[in-house]
Amino acid sequence: MNFDWTKDEAELIKRVAGLWDEAALADLAALETAALETGDGSDLAALTRKQIGRLAEAGAFAVAVGPSAKAETLRWMALMENVAQASGSLLLAAESSVRLFGGLLAGWGGGPLANLLGQVVSGEAIGALALSEPGGNQPQTGGRTQGRKEGDGYRVTGTKGFVANGPMADMIAVSGQVEGKTAFFLVQPGQEGVKIGPRMATLGYNGLAVSTLDLDHAFVPADRVIGPLADDEAVRFLHTVQDLILVAASLGVMIRTHNEANAYSRTYHRGAKPIYSHQEVRFKLADTFTLMQTSQLLAYRAAWFQATGEKEAPVLIHAAKVFTAEAAEKVSSLAMQILAGRGYVMGNPVERGYREAKFAALAGTTSEVARMSIAEDVLRRFPVA
Ligand SMILES: Cc1cc2nc3c(=O)[nH]c(=O)nc-3n(C[C@H](O)[C@H](O)[C@H](O)COP(=O)(O)OP(=O)(O)OC[C@H]3O[C@@H](n4cnc5c(N)ncnc54)[C@H](O)[C@@H]3O)c2cc1C
Repeated sequence: MNFDWTKDEAELIKRVAGLWDEAALADLAALETAALETGDGSDLAALTRKQIGRLAEAGAFAVAVGPSAKAETLRWMALMENVAQASGSLLLAAESSVRLFGGLLAGWGGGPLANLLGQVVSGEAIGALALSEPGGNQPQTGGRTQGRKEGDGYRVTGTKGFVANGPMADMIAVSGQVEGKTAFFLVQPGQEGVKIGPRMATLGYNGLAVSTLDLDHAFVPADRVIGPLADDEAVRFLHTVQDLILVAASLGVMIRTHNEANAYSRTYHRGAKPIYSHQEVRFKLADTFTLMQTSQLLAYRAAWFQATGEKEAPVLIHAAKVFTAEAAEKVSSLAMQILAGRGYVMGNPVERGYREAKFAALAGTTSEVARMSIAEDVLRRFPVA
């Protein structure tokens, strides 16, 4: 791994880091408890749109959108790490809209969908991607959602269990099958046959709006359909993007919880001493720091491999996802141990990080599936003579 930020990259990263002033941090804190609709600008959709708009204005979405922008993966990782540190919920909402929904349009959309891509990248519109499905043989490819040709479009039927941004998206790209080939159907809230479920209550990332999605013979005109595609390259691309987003989300959890524990150990006293003077507390800080740094190294190495088109990029991304997800669980747990009772109280950054940490291991490519793919790659690539 060998890279330097160019002047433009360094400026972009600094600009995004500079977004998190006191007012923005207050908005991000409000996201975690906001209701979906209040209508007075304090609702989740308004707060999310405002911060996505600020990210767009700062240029955060001018890079790494779509498969042809793979070379920009490193600076994308740096931007994501920065947003994840401020708010994991905002990271997931923004990335679902821009790099997942927008990335799909950038790579495979074309024609009349170019306008929509422009709106998403500028933060005017919010997108969502409904890819994974429960229960199928291939849960990640939308195998059970089916599109049937009808006139100048498709009738689509299927169910998606989880859609991030679902309750607030202007447009949702839904993966499905047309005669055995993958296609993506772009549907809108309010459209006949499209039912977006109520917002789910989740363990963590409470500032992210997630819902189910049911399509019941929904008619999708051909100019809102991507595909049927000749291969599964789009699906592979989207899985890679999902996994990189989750790597960054884990980094964010570690940075926040480690920093909080570090600060607390200096300011909180037991007896006459700050608790950092106890070796047991120091060892925990050493462990959280080491895991955080190792995770950052692996995340940037995976991003570097992806950016430079190394053959090992997919296996390294899986390795980074498995490691950073598990490291985030460990770091947030150790951080809570340092804060003890204070860390257990709702609203504390450590408590929030602890709840958020679990998500990365079970979302996207789950740790089990990623481990199987890593092992397969190791066995294939390094045969013993
Ligand atoms: C809050 C939230 C938001 C989400 N947002 C989105 C979104 O916006 N878009 C989207 O497409 N998806 C989204 N998801 C779905 C998420 O990506 C999936 O949860 C994830 O892909 C896992 O799928 P699953 O829950 O159906 O579990 P399953 O894939 O059914 O897995 C269940 C268990 O079986 C194991 N398992 C499965 N297959 C194998 C195998 N072959 N070998 C060994 N073990 C196996 C898994 O590792 C896991 O432990 C979201 C999920 C949540 C919770």
